[in-house]
Order: sequence, then C-alpha cells, then structure tokens
Amino acid sequence: MKWSKGYLFTLKEAPADAEIPSHILLVRGGYIRKVAPGIFTYGHLMWRSIRKFEAIVREELNRRGCVEILMPMVQPRELWEETGRWKEMGEGLQKLKNRNDHDFCLGATHEEVVTDYVRRDVKSYRDLPFNLYQVQTKFRDEIRPRFGLMRGREFIMKDAYSFDPDVAGAQKSYQQMFEAYTDIFKRLGARFRVVQADSGNIGGNQSQEFHILADSGEDQLLVSESSDFAANIEVCPAIDAQPAAAPSSELKTMEEFATPGLRTIEALAKATGTPAHQLVKTMYFSASDEPAKKLNPVAVLLRGSDEVNPVKVKNHFGLSNPPLLLTDEEVRKLTSASPGSCGPVGLNIPILMDKGVENLRNYMVGANKDDFHLRNVNHGRDYKATVVGDFRMAREGDLSPDGKGHLKAFRGIEVGHIFYLGTKYSKKMEANYLAQDQTQKPIEMGCYGIGITRTVQAVIEQNHDKDGIIWPVSVAPYVVHIALLDPDAPEARQLADKLYDDLMAKGIDVLMDDRVERPGVKFKDADLLGMPLRVNIGARGLAAGELELIERKTKKTEKVQPGALFEKIVTWVKEQSI
Ligand code: ATP
Ligand code: MG
Repeated sequence: MKWSKGYLFTLKEAPADAEIPSHILLVRGGYIRKVAPGIFTYGHLMWRSIRKFEAIVREELNRRGCVEILMPMVQPRELWEETGRWKEMGEGLQKLKNRNDHDFCLGATHEEVVTDYVRRDVKSYRDLPFNLYQVQTKFRDEIRPRFGLMRGREFIMKDAYSFDPDVAGAQKSYQQMFEAYTDIFKRLGARFRVVQADSGNIGGNQSQEFHILADSGEDQLLVSESSDFAANIEVCPAIDAQPAAAPSSELKTMEEFATPGLRTIEALAKATGTPAHQLVKTMYFSASDEPAKKLNPVAVLLRGSDEVNPVKVKNHFGLSNPPLLLTDEEVRKLTSASPGSCGPVGLNIPILMDKGVENLRNYMVGANKDDFHLRNVNHGRDYKATVVGDFRMAREGDLSPDGKGHLKAFRGIEVGHIFYLGTKYSKKMEANYLAQDQTQKPIEMGCYGIGITRTVQAVIEQNHDKDGIIWPVSVAPYVVHIALLDPDAPEARQLADKLYDDLMAKGIDVLMDDRVERPGVKFKDADLLGMPLRVNIGARGLAAGELELIERKTKKTEKVQPGALFEKIVTWVKEQSI
C-alpha cells in the first residue's frame, strides 16, 4: 500500500481510556477506532494482521483435518432454552427481538447452534468423527469492556467443535487440538504457557487455557518451579508451605470488646498486635445464579491474610457464574452490622470455612455489632461451619499441588481455551448416533476457542518499545516499510517505486510512506507502526550511493548500495521465516 492513496492516520497522543501499551499503540497507530465501549472498527493495518493470524490458525486446523463452516451470528432463543443457557448465561448474552416479537440472541459462543447442525445430519457411527470450526464475530455484553480488543463486547473468535463416538476418540481430538494450539502460538513467536482452567459456563470437566505472558494480563497463573504443574489461580488448589502449628488445647472464654473505627484486617492487626494470618475474616456472597432476583447469602471464613477464591465457591455450589459479594447494605440487613464488624457467631446462613482457619484457636472475629469484635472465638463451641474446604486463592510460595516444589506467579492474557465437554450438549439436545451395537448414543464433544482479535493485541503487549509496535514477521500487516524521504526527487521516487513493485512481485508485503512530510515525521510513524524492516530512500543517500536498512526490533542500521537493496531485503525476510 502507498500511504498517499491509503487510509492511515496516526496520533501523537493516546485517548485517556487507553491504559496499557498495546491499546495505546493500536489507537495511536490508527489500527483501531472505538465506535462504542468494547466495539471497534479495525483499520486497514489491523485487518491485515488479523487476516494473517487467521491464516495461521486455518493452516494448522486444516492440516489436522478440521473443516471450516460459518454459523449465524443471530440465534433463536429456542436452541438456548434446550440447554438452559438462555437463563444461565445471564446478562452477558445480548438478547433481541425481531418484528414478530420472537426472541433471539447474538452468538456469544456456538455450542447450541453447532450441536443442532450436527444432530440433523449425523445418523451413525460411520458419520463420526469430525471437527467443525469457524472464524466469526462474537458478541458478549461484558460488564467492563476495557484494554481495547483485549476485552471487547464484539470480537473475533475462532471456535472449533469436535464430535466423536466415544471418550477415547474425544480425548484424541482434544489432544490434537492441544497440539494445534501449541503450534499456532509457537508460529506467532509468542511466549506462552498452558494452564489448567475452570470450565466456566461452557461446561465439561477438563479444560486448559493458553496464555500469552504479559505483566498487564488479567489472569494470574501459578506455575511450579520444580515440575510442569501450571494452573490458572481460579482453579489452583491452595496448600500452605508452612503447615499450621498444632493448635493449643486450651479454649479461652469468648468475650466482646470495643474496636471503634477498626473496620479492616490491617487496622485490627495493628491495634491488637496480632498478625493478619492469625485473624479471621468473614466475607459474604450471594450463591445465586440470578442475583438480581434471588439473594442466597453465604459466608466464607478465612484467615485475614488470605483472599477468597470466588470460582471455588462457585464450584462448591455448582453455580454457573462466580457469586457476587453482598453489598454493605445487604450485609447490614443480614447481620445488623457493617462488613468490617461482622463474624460467624450467631449467623444463620451456610458458612464455608477455609481449611486455613481450621487449626486456629482463640481468635478474633467481628461481633455483628458495629465497632465491636469477639475474642477467644473457637469453631465447634461458638459457631458451626457448614463445610471446611479449600476456598482461598493460592499464591506464590504455596506448595505445588503435585507435591513438587513451590508455586511461582505469572500474569497472562488468555488467548485460547480448550474444553472436553463429554455429552453435556449432545444429551440435552439429543444429538445421538447409532452405535455399532445398534443402540442410540449421545455424541462425545469438545470445544476449542481462540480469541483472534485479543491474540493480535496480546502480541503487541509482548512486542513493543517506547517508540511503538515491533511486529513479528508472522503477523506484521506489512513486512517492509519504505520511507520515501524525497517524494519530489525523481530518482528517489523511481527507485522506491521499483523496489515497491519488485518486492510485491516477490510476494513480500510493502508499505510505502510517500507522503509529503518531513523525514522526522516519517521515522516516528515508522517506529510507531512497527513493520519489521524499514528502508530509507532519499536524495542524499542516493547521491552517496548508500541507503539505510533498519531492523525495527534491534534498530540495527545497515548501509546498503541501491543495487543490492532488493536482494538484501529478500534474504532478510527469508531468514526471518525460517
Ligand atoms: P475471559 O475469561 O477472558 O472472559 P472466557 O473464558 O469467557 O474469557 P472463552 O469462552 O473461553 O472466554 O472464549 C474463548 C476465547 O475467546 C478466550 O480464550 C479469549 O481469547 C477470547 N475472548 C473471550 N472473551 C473475550 C472478549 N470479551 N474480548 C476478546 N476476546 C475474548
Ligand atoms: Mg476461557
């Protein structure tokens, strides 16, 4: 593309709502423009990167025999009612009505539609196995869209669905997708990790996430230092590195004492000289899938130094979504006190006790009376937990759940997620086949997603410097950036045009900045846009018989004779793709 004929507008400043480097750079480079929160237009350069990444994904899936289709974005309510997810998906599912008052939703994911598609055609075990995939726009009404394409409302996903006659086949399909994903993210040149994950409201009982590692990642990953154990913090079992000391047997008398203004664990710890891990805090949640309609209050007890893991609470109750914290008002209604003065004694709701509290004795808790606490409280005597279990967030330094070494923390961006579904959807939707033994059996399924737009932005999060983006060749919108410094000098223009044509003929993507602009502006924009290799073509360089070739990643500059330029570039590009 020649800039003068294209549509490319860079900005000096980023908008105020761009918080992380990749979002800032995408906006400054004119790669994306916001239309509404979480909804964007992909500019020409962005679209090229997206298409290149999609091509990698398609290649790796097609190579493994997966079959591409395209399903509708607008889907009828009836299909979602069959699986119960019309309700279960909650507000995230964008619902709409047509002129006849029929309910539809925008596709947030496509298990229902694909299962319906398959049940219409598949009759016998001879029709299995297969894997159907699509690259498509998804819509989720995210509570807080942010970070540009990282958490959009409208975004592009590659979703694949495998169909097998039995568990062994389904496991093989799962493994094959694991390998495909590994190859896809390797080809991107990304630093990534695969971790055990929660199945969310997709369902099934085995799932793994692929994460691109980045400090700004929304997810915390815990990885063993001594083995290949790795899990998303959401599902990582929490095991203390230091086993709790054996509890003293003496139970002291419980008593109330005044704690005016002490509403946080930190304040209480300071005022009483007790370390936070010996204090006990009570958190209140609504264990309900319809928090707006039905409040189902539960309390979680844990050490003052620990954090509740809402996904563990969700899984304990078999909820579809993590439970929401009660508001201060709701807590007050329940306990007659503010959250900072609450505790388990006299509480008439289910109490989940984290096992970290089990061995504590004679501890302090809120008295359910503003500005008062109880001391010398003991489980069994003063209150009774409904269940004792693992409800806290694991953290760096905890023991690895496989017993090998300690956990180390990383931050990651979830770019891919693979699930073994079993028969969750096929049973509910009666997607059956005639097995060899002449019985009707539900089809074994798996589903596999890659956030296409999120991944492309995550690549930038991993590859940038203070001046701009540093694209890897694999998904760079253009590989070569020609900065034509004197568009009005005929010789420079001629050489640039010829180089442009020759590279294009060779199948190398070229962007040529032929605007009437100062060199300084062009250099800044070239660094911002981030194409892997730049060549400066100007009258002065031509007169000296030397032109500059600059590698974006290293900023290494090489002087090259005009006649050798083409070959040099071709060789460089070839080396990169090895
Ligand atoms: P998250 O936990 O980030 O909300 P999810 O687990 O709900 O994502 P999946 O249902 O596993 O998402 O979807 C498959 C992939 O789609 C994710 O791994 C992610 O890369 C991408 N994705 C999901 N939600 C979004 C979003 N709001 N914006 C951009 N990409 C998304
Ligand atoms: Mg996921």
